[in-house]
Amino acid sequence: MQSVPNIVRPDKDPVLNEENPFEAMMERFDRAAELLNLEPGIYAVLRHPEKQIITSVPVMMDNGEVEVFQGIRVLYNTSRGPAKGGIRFDAKVSLDEVTALAAWMTWKCAVVDIPFGGAKGGVICDPYRLSMGELERLTRRYTASILDVLGPDSDVPAPDVNTNERVMAWIMDTYSMHMRHTVTSVVTGKPVAMGGSLGRREATGRGVKIVIREALRELGIPVHGTTVAVQGFGNVGSVAARLLEEEGLTVVAISDMTGGVYNANGIYIGEALKWVAEHKFLEGFPHGEPITNEELLELGVDVLVPAALENVITKRNAPNIKAKIIAEGANGPTTAPADAILDEKGVFVIPDILANAGGVTVSYFEWVQNREGYFWSEELVIKRLREVMIRSFHNVLDYARQHHVNLRTASYMLAIDRVAAVHRMRGIYA
Ligand code: GLU
Repeated sequence: MQSVPNIVRPDKDPVLNEENPFEAMMERFDRAAELLNLEPGIYAVLRHPEKQIITSVPVMMDNGEVEVFQGIRVLYNTSRGPAKGGIRFDAKVSLDEVTALAAWMTWKCAVVDIPFGGAKGGVICDPYRLSMGELERLTRRYTASILDVLGPDSDVPAPDVNTNERVMAWIMDTYSMHMRHTVTSVVTGKPVAMGGSLGRREATGRGVKIVIREALRELGIPVHGTTVAVQGFGNVGSVAARLLEEEGLTVVAISDMTGGVYNANGIYIGEALKWVAEHKFLEGFPHGEPITNEELLELGVDVLVPAALENVITKRNAPNIKAKIIAEGANGPTTAPADAILDEKGVFVIPDILANAGGVTVSYFEWVQNREGYFWSEELVIKRLREVMIRSFHNVLDYARQHHVNLRTASYMLAIDRVAAVHRMRGIYA
């Protein structure tokens, strides 16, 4: 295990790469820090991750050969509580990306005011190429190699891109074997039968729906007749699409990594879910015309939900975006230069650290239930999630109006202010 205490990045270098997620996060952070007039010491602390782990993960493949993967876990900040954040399995994972995502988790937990810090993890691999057995061995060995930081009071993983309840079950089991007793609260997003929370699987998509509903109310746009395009049909996009449809909006376009479909009369999401359950991907779904992921973003819809990966809205396509509302289901779907363009166009952007915070909010509920050993009904989970999302939406909106900034800057300012306040109270341990 190799711990790198500092991010390899000189302070204050110019933003060179629009699509580097760490740069994207830092640009927003710097702007918020400046507006907050953050003192230099706290500014310096919050600009650096607490801990970055890079580890080699050897796996015995099904063909009898050993392959070594790279695993990463970054604990960005733990001042407000245990580090919290998902683990993704993806070929494009990098230290910069995971660090940005860990910082975003820190701000996200602070925006919705739950007592967690921020973390993220990843393993560089192509999970679609791995068998179930290989995935399990990879997960268990990765877990073992970051065991020093894991724990209900120190670092609590959850699902993210290409990981799910099954992966969480393996992490929980591996950790528990090392502790010599069952520790349910070490991960969230577990299967309900082994301590997961009802409503966790749908929580991110449900949170996206709740903030879109609030935004429509705020902007005086009626629900009926409002059109939506959703990019991504995984755990976030598919649930958001289904719940928005249920709410009375018309979902005219959906997509996944194989491309999208468009139907001006609305896509019946139940049919799309059935198709994906059978065929794995949306490709070939017959109830609409095929479109590309790029075309989906530029459709003439009222609401756009990017719920796939980072950097899909850039300075190149931002001028062509026609949506009135963008609700960021993914983490970091909009680059920093694109923010300015959307702002100028008057698009109501509900930023990722607010829009997709429903997942980590119910993760918090799961962690609380595990520690209490007492489980809530699904109705109670949904009720409390609604309360948190609506309160946070209005906190950010009020903050934005008060400080004459957009919702992105407001959410960063609110979050950074909360984290900074705790740093001031705790002081610097010498
Ligand atoms: N991966 C999710 C996110 O990006 C959930 C994290 C969690 O529940 O800890 O917000």
